[in-house]
Amino acid sequence: GNMARYEELSVEELEALRAELKDEYRRYQTMDMNLDMSRGKPCREQLDLSNDMMDALDSNADMYSSEGVDVRNYGVLDGIAEAKELLSDMMENHPDHILIFGNSSLNVMYDSISRSMTHGVMGSTPWCKLDEVKWLCPVPGYDRHFAITEYFGIKMIPVPMTEQGPDMDMVEELVASDEAIKGIWCVPKYSNPQGYSYSDETVRRFARLKPAARDFRIYWDNAYGMHHLYDHEQDYLIEILAECKRAGHPDLVYKFASTSKISFPGSGIASMATSLNNLEDIKKQVQYQTIGHDKVNQLRHVRFFQDIHGMVKHMQKHANILRPKFEMVEDIFEKNLAGTGVGEWTKPKGGYFISFETLPGCAKAVVDKCKKAGVTLTPAGSAFPYKKDPNDSNIRIAPTYPPLEDLRIASELFTLCVKLVSVEKLLKDKKEVQ
Ligand code: PMP
Repeated sequence: GNMARYEELSVEELEALRAELKDEYRRYQTMDMNLDMSRGKPCREQLDLSNDMMDALDSNADMYSSEGVDVRNYGVLDGIAEAKELLSDMMENHPDHILIFGNSSLNVMYDSISRSMTHGVMGSTPWCKLDEVKWLCPVPGYDRHFAITEYFGIKMIPVPMTEQGPDMDMVEELVASDEAIKGIWCVPKYSNPQGYSYSDETVRRFARLKPAARDFRIYWDNAYGMHHLYDHEQDYLIEILAECKRAGHPDLVYKFASTSKISFPGSGIASMATSLNNLEDIKKQVQYQTIGHDKVNQLRHVRFFQDIHGMVKHMQKHANILRPKFEMVEDIFEKNLAGTGVGEWTKPKGGYFISFETLPGCAKAVVDKCKKAGVTLTPAGSAFPYKKDPNDSNIRIAPTYPPLEDLRIASELFTLCVKLVSVEKLLKDKKEVQ
């Protein structure tokens, strides 16, 4: 509609608006809702897309891999050949640069930091023996990344995100000047939570970083590499391993991915791509950790998807389910908030999230208000190291899980709470000035 900028309203106008919004909020409270929009989980229909995978390897199936390996037995540390081929196509890396892991890429990231802590990186001093280890954290970012570095006592330094990726001036300067900085969390495509994709310039600058620490690694978590919402409008990313090689820094990056949001989040396949030197270093540890990961699951995935084309087609089915959800949320935000100046949000072309910015100091209150009316959002501050959003303005919206109709009600309620909290804040500010 033709809404006024809230900032420009008089105290009387704001008070009238507040009364109106409060009435509407009370109506939502009587609806007895219980909706969860807190995590980026696929919905049931999305999971159903992969049900046939359970038949792809039934009790009559041939349990041998293309190389004649009995997948039911022990062995094959780095994954069966056809799984490496499928995942290497997915990751845009050569199969020789791929290591297949278990069901979770987050687990692989955790283990990589854990290994660096206890045993160092390629013969460097184990991080646990250093006085201080620091990490760059583009913000807002993925809460579980920050939770890992916090768990290991690594000091996290926030770096602002832009639509092109992290502030690279700041990244370049920090890594070049401080040997204690050992890594950076990156979600380079359809980032969590903003849905931004790194520009060519950003990727090139990453590949050309000159870290003071020899054991600095870019943790390149390409969790949403194939997770487009549109066929004809896809973000594109320069392949980081190849770019690092071109820049003369082949060992600079660990790249992670998984099929979590392609097949089943709890039962997918995770994989890592990196230089041969890094792989050798990593395998030295992994060989003590396991005799081999779940090859039955690897074969099941390959039999189901067949090849990368099968996977691309499968991702289009996911997109068909998710696109209406993202578009509905964005439409409701637009309808209820455009012109008010009390909220901004991202409009991603893929991934799992929309990032919302309230007026400063309003995010916590908005999340609380939603909760009191039965809608659970990701806690405010979650997208920042130590859960501290300095502006208390960021809220991560996860539109994937709820059914469309629930999502509609939740989005309407959310915008209502944004308006109500903003009006209360503006009134408070105005009264303090008077
Ligand atoms: N990385 C990012 C950026 C994510 O958003 C998620 C899931 N929300 C993960 C990793 C988790 O991946 P996995 O299931 O492979 O552990």
